[in-house]
Amino acid sequence: MRAIRRFTVRPVLPPALAALGDLAGNLRWSWHPESQDVFAEVDPGLWESTGHDPVRLLGAVGRARLDELATDEGFLGRLGTARADLEAYLTQDRWYQRSGGGSDGSGPRAIGYFSPEFGITAVLPQYSGGLGILAGDHLKAASDLGVPIIGVGLLYRHGYFKQALSREGWQQETYPVLDPDELPISLLREPDGSRAMIAISLPDGPDLLARIWVASVGRVPLLMLDTDVEGNPDHYVDVTDRLYGGNSEHRLRQELLLGVGGVKALRAYARITGHPEPEVFHTNEGHAGFLGLERIRELTVAEDGPRLDFDTALEVSRASTVFTTHTPVPAGIDRFPANLIEQYFSDAGATPGVPVERILSLGREDYDGGDASVFNMAVMGFRLAQRANGVSLLHGHVSRGMFNGLWPAFDEAEVPIGSITNGVHAPTWVAREVFDLAAGQGADPDGDDTEAFWAAVDRVPGRDVWTVKRQLRERLVLDARRRLLRSWEKRGSAKAELGWIDSALDPDVLTIGFARRVPSYKRLTLMLRDPERLKRLLLHPERPIQLVIAGKSHPADDGGKRLIQELVRFADDPEVRHRIVFLPNYDIAMAQPLYPGCDVWLNNPLRPYEACGTSGMKAALNGGLNLSILDGWWDEWYDGENGWAIPSADGVDDTDRRDDLEADALYDLIEHEVTPRFYDLDGEGVPTRWVEMLRHTLKSLGPKVLATRMVRDYVRQLYAPAAVNARRLNSDYAGAVELAAWKKKVRAGWPGVRVEHVESSGVGDAPEVGATMHVRAFVALGDLAPEDVAVQLVHGRTTSEDELVDTVTEPLSLAESYDAGRHRFDGDVVLDHAGGFGYTVRVVPRNALLTSYAELGVVALP
Ligand SMILES: *Cc1c(COP(=O)(O)O)cnc(C)c1O
Repeated sequence: MRAIRRFTVRPVLPPALAALGDLAGNLRWSWHPESQDVFAEVDPGLWESTGHDPVRLLGAVGRARLDELATDEGFLGRLGTARADLEAYLTQDRWYQRSGGGSDGSGPRAIGYFSPEFGITAVLPQYSGGLGILAGDHLKAASDLGVPIIGVGLLYRHGYFKQALSREGWQQETYPVLDPDELPISLLREPDGSRAMIAISLPDGPDLLARIWVASVGRVPLLMLDTDVEGNPDHYVDVTDRLYGGNSEHRLRQELLLGVGGVKALRAYARITGHPEPEVFHTNEGHAGFLGLERIRELTVAEDGPRLDFDTALEVSRASTVFTTHTPVPAGIDRFPANLIEQYFSDAGATPGVPVERILSLGREDYDGGDASVFNMAVMGFRLAQRANGVSLLHGHVSRGMFNGLWPAFDEAEVPIGSITNGVHAPTWVAREVFDLAAGQGADPDGDDTEAFWAAVDRVPGRDVWTVKRQLRERLVLDARRRLLRSWEKRGSAKAELGWIDSALDPDVLTIGFARRVPSYKRLTLMLRDPERLKRLLLHPERPIQLVIAGKSHPADDGGKRLIQELVRFADDPEVRHRIVFLPNYDIAMAQPLYPGCDVWLNNPLRPYEACGTSGMKAALNGGLNLSILDGWWDEWYDGENGWAIPSADGVDDTDRRDDLEADALYDLIEHEVTPRFYDLDGEGVPTRWVEMLRHTLKSLGPKVLATRMVRDYVRQLYAPAAVNARRLNSDYAGAVELAAWKKKVRAGWPGVRVEHVESSGVGDAPEVGATMHVRAFVALGDLAPEDVAVQLVHGRTTSEDELVDTVTEPLSLAESYDAGRHRFDGDVVLDHAGGFGYTVRVVPRNALLTSYAELGVVALP
């Protein structure tokens, strides 16, 4: 029998236990072990069986137990302490307030952070992989630092899929329905109690409606839009059905909801709660890029808006927008058929009144090699954001090359895309025992003095380090056995056949972890290149290794599923199955004991496709050593002693051969470097050289890989400068009007800008190091004034083709003006090293409100 209606009855807590509801209602518990202790005490069995889910725990615990707790003085004391701690966390000044982030007026009053996925806790499964985990860590670190971020995302009714295996090792996907009433979120309501709604007009149909859920991530609200509401036809209800599913049109509707709907949700949230409106908007990857179009609509045609012209509105919106690109893999970039965009942004579409031709041109690939029939969300991202970044130094570099076409007049190095390397949220990912080791040395991980915390690493005795590592390895082994048993039962084995699982994996064997999504560039099966060699490593009589592997393949990616199957088949072999396991359904709940339990974290992507990668950072913070291709973050922070670099055969085009070379190098490292060090024990059973490396890993990487470092970088390098620029443009829009007019003038006048003639003196035919060269450049600026431009001397080494490399750019200064827009600019340069030297002079636009002279994409050269 089917129910005709369903609803969830929310538990009523006795008044003495009201604080339990407060603790459960803020996700801070998910990174605060002391709060988790309180929930565990309510009912240890339920705490385990609900998968550490406070909302479901409180829904399931019986009345009698609650009444008992309500009179338990000891419990009430601990509950009161946890509640008071939460209150202090939520209300006291933190880094942003103490450092003047907000109070000196430079930091934004609020920042809207848009992402298609957020991975915050296992009990709010709204993520698929690294992008979502990063977004979750960004919000948590912002909360810890007091940075006034508001997250904006979608609430997917099925989240991402759950992974299981068939008998044959083929990935099986299921999509359990999430009941919002059982999730740690609450509905945003109008003051009269009705639910807050947003509406987006779609062509050929009624408005798309969405309600707004709010998750409290410490101090940070996360707004999640949900189209599962009465009034929406079924195909609209399904807009938020699942993460990364469906065809282009489905994806487009999701992204419309996220971008356009997200801005509307932020406005509703500010109106209802009095929270400040964001001064800066951050697009985490291109998916949320439509937010810029909604802001242009607000500024150009909205009844209650300032009714600016399009170009002025574009400047206002650009100045306050930050765009982070996350992948150098072309398939990872969203591209829509241009005619679909035309349809959805027609006058009956999502941003009525904003000219669709202007919208189309924002996402057009109008550069060499571009495809004129598509609308590219990354391209639009760069055009709608004045500040853009990649997520590691190497990825910044790769992105500048990838998107050079948008600034064709400039060399790759000058493309205005910077980088901020990702980080991870330590309180979420570091095992409690590891924190306790340092805390035992009097170091406070929450203190502002993080140096002191990392210095404590040297004071912990090696034996203690090793005892804790074994404990964590053993916990992982037990968790893995439990998951393995469940998986084999699902695959159709009888319990009686599964006795071997009781001794699968060994808490004293060197444990290597490999877990991540399974796109082809991550090369899940590289370790299987030479199966016999891998077997010998696994079964080595004195120095064996064991491998714990996990990862989901995108449901539409059969190639990825074949890789999983290949690996599972290898791991099914009775000869090795006690030393290599594939654990289905990689998620936060699995990841949390996995990183601390591993001695080595393996990563072997095809360089340079791993934009950053964060799992190795989580391993490092738990004293795991990285064994990785020099890609993403590892390329930046590997120092020769904090782990191992697998040499990559970058120049080798034959991918098979490249895989062979890199796999061989991996086996060699494991055999000759990793295992000998791990099994080289001193008289007390401690591998001292290993522990040395572990200490060095913690000290060298610890302070760098933190999400708090990352969020501070975002505040200083992007959010605060964006807010400053935005205020100059937005306060009365005069600045924006001026900037838009100036850009128009510069673009129109640029054909008249020329470098006519350059003279140099002071260095003869055979200059020596130390000589000073005087340069005089005669330029014609046409209708532009000298203050509209910078005249630059660009010098560097020369190649055999007279290409300038390692260039340095220095401004020349206006020396004299002549008739008809002609001017002379002068400057000196000291020849400070021997060898081939070359220079040129160029003219570029200049304005204090530009972030880079490359911003307009124009340049004049001799
Ligand atoms: C950290 C994490 C990721 C991201 O790992 P990468 O190495 O960056 O790909 C993916 N999934 C989960 C569950 C994680 O915890």
